[in-house]
This record gives sequence, structure tokens and C-alpha cells, in this order.
Amino acid sequence: MTTYNFCAGPAMLPTEVMAQAQQQLRDFSQPGVSVMELSHRSAEFMQVAEEAEQNLRDLMQIPDNYAVLFMHGGARGQFSAIPLNLLSETGTALYLESGQWSVSAAKEAAKFGRVEVRDIRDANSSIDLAKIGATAGYDYVHYCPNETVDGVSITAVPECDSPLVADMSSCILGRDLDVSKFALIYAGAQKNVGPAGLTLVIVRRDLIGQAAAHTPAILDYRLAQENDSMYNTPPTFAWYLAGEVFKWIKANGGVTAMSARNQAKAAALYRFIDASDFYRNGVSPIFRSEMNVTFQLQDAELNQRFLAQAESHGLMALKGHRLVGGMRASIYNAMPMAGVEALIDFMDNFAQSHQ
Ligand SMILES: *Cc1c(COP(=O)(O)O)cnc(C)c1O
Repeated sequence: MTTYNFCAGPAMLPTEVMAQAQQQLRDFSQPGVSVMELSHRSAEFMQVAEEAEQNLRDLMQIPDNYAVLFMHGGARGQFSAIPLNLLSETGTALYLESGQWSVSAAKEAAKFGRVEVRDIRDANSSIDLAKIGATAGYDYVHYCPNETVDGVSITAVPECDSPLVADMSSCILGRDLDVSKFALIYAGAQKNVGPAGLTLVIVRRDLIGQAAAHTPAILDYRLAQENDSMYNTPPTFAWYLAGEVFKWIKANGGVTAMSARNQAKAAALYRFIDASDFYRNGVSPIFRSEMNVTFQLQDAELNQRFLAQAESHGLMALKGHRLVGGMRASIYNAMPMAGVEALIDFMDNFAQSHQ
């Protein structure tokens, strides 16, 4: 039986990458030396680091006027770092709230400066883009294009008259993107990039260097940039593995191919849910996430049985986030179509035996 892991994060990594990492684990640059045991300043690791950055730049077509920072602290670390680096003493940041993560981001930012919040959700946990309203005059506007917990996404980049900041923790590299529309993109690695512990920050260079005086050094973008993301010891193994994932994406057709596959996977799963009267998803189709497919059983009494039987069929971690309940299938780049097909088969059988 093949096991498929639908965890929202840390999420499954490409099988080929894991096999390769296993092979290299103890013998990297030479026999008996693991990448985990190398100095971050060694020539061998510097090459890993530079190659990873170059491959990410190639994959996302990141323009030269953007820095790519490999940081610590996860996306939540950036919830603090962003206002500390971008929000001036007299300025205001606008936070668009579309679900759990953007709400958390706004709450953290408010500790550091003036924050205005705009809830852009509508009644059925979808999005009402008209609620974005005027965006001029802010130090930056923050939003979350893919709400991992809610299974809601905003695919088209909103028109914005201030620097646009996006939490792409659960959608980076899942779809083609015009980086130049953003001032800053950030992502915790553990959803679609690699292991936990690494955080990607792609930031326009002219926005670097304005951090508040009390900014902790490890959150300061200027120090990160000046030190090639090695102001302190970076999470070297996570950086290496992210680099292997970038190579895997390149070898498999790049982001365009990932995107086509992701759309096909999500479409198949939503099509099945919509056709069933046993399962449902209430999000308006255009705001449904391709990465995190949330769904409910009409009879919530069956949730536990559903999860237990799914596990016994090798379909792991389908329980929805505790804040929203129900089920959630996270189907990032590494999830093959076969995993989604196995899930649909199981859901179909489960429904038929419990109607
Ligand atoms: C997972 C997630 C986070 C939190 O990431 P950490 O790395 O645990 O801090 C923030 N935002 C989004 C959209 C996420 O999916």
C-alpha cells in the first residue's frame, strides 16, 4: 500500500528528493561528511547556498532588483520582521483579512506600529474583492493569497497603490507569478519548499535598510542581505534540502508544469466533492484553494470513522485545522495525481458504505 501524506505542514516532500537526501545524508562532499556537519562558510556549503538561490531565481524569474533572503523564524517570524523593517514611525500598514493566517499577521504587526485592518471575507468564508477598497498612502499592504487553514485563495494579484506584501507560505512555487507586482513575498518553507526551519523572503532591494532601531539583528533585512543570509548560522540542512526541491521542480518542467498539475489535482477533487451529496465545500469556486482543499462530511458524526479508515488506507493527516473542523487535504507540489485519485476512490467508497 502506498502512503500519501495530506498534512498541511510540515508537508510531504518529493519522493525523489527524499531518496537523494538519504543517499547523501552521511556522505556529501566526501565520504563520512554530512551536509549537516559542514561549516556554513565552507566552499562546499557556499556552493549549495548559491545554487539554491540561483535556482529559485530561475524558477520564479526573480528580477535583479530583488534580494532573496534565507531566514529563520518561520512565517510567524516575518509577521514581526515585516513591520519592523517596513513600517515607519509615522506610517500605517494596511492588513487585508481573508482567513486565519492574515488575521494572525495583522495582530502581530499591531505590536510594532500603526495598523489598519480590513476584513475582505463574505458570509460563506469566501472573499469579496470589492472590500479591499482604497490602497494608496500606506507603508505597505499585506495579504495572504492562500489561506492554508480555511482553504481559501486569492489567485489574481490585487491592484494595489502601495507596496504589496504577500504571505505565500502555502502557495509559493505552486503557480506562475509576476514577482515585480510585489514589494515583498515571504514563505515558511515547510509547506511547498522543504523542511521546517527555513523562511524565504524575496524583497525589493530599495525597501531594505529602513528597519526600526530596536529591530532584533536576526530580523533585520539589511544585515541579512549584507551577510548573504549568514549573519548568524543559517539552517543549513533545510537550505540544502530546499535547494534539492528547487532542482526537482526544474527537472519536472518548472513552475508552469507544477501549476498545470496542481490545477488538475484540485479540479478532480472539487469536482468529486461537488457531485457528491455526502461531502461539501462552501467556498465560491473562484476562491477555492488549489493547495488546501477543505471539505465537510454532511454528517459530522462520521468524522472520526472517516479519519480512522482513511489512515488504514494509507491516507494520512486529513483532519481539518482545529479552528475550522471538518477535513482538509493539502495537495502541494509534491503530492502526485495518484494520491488525489486514491483519496477520491476512498471518499467514494466511504460515502457508498455510509449512505
Ligand atoms: C503555515 C503558515 C504560517 C505559519 O508558518 P510558521 O512557519 O509556522 O510560522 C503562516 N502563514 C501561512 C499562510 C501558513 O500557511
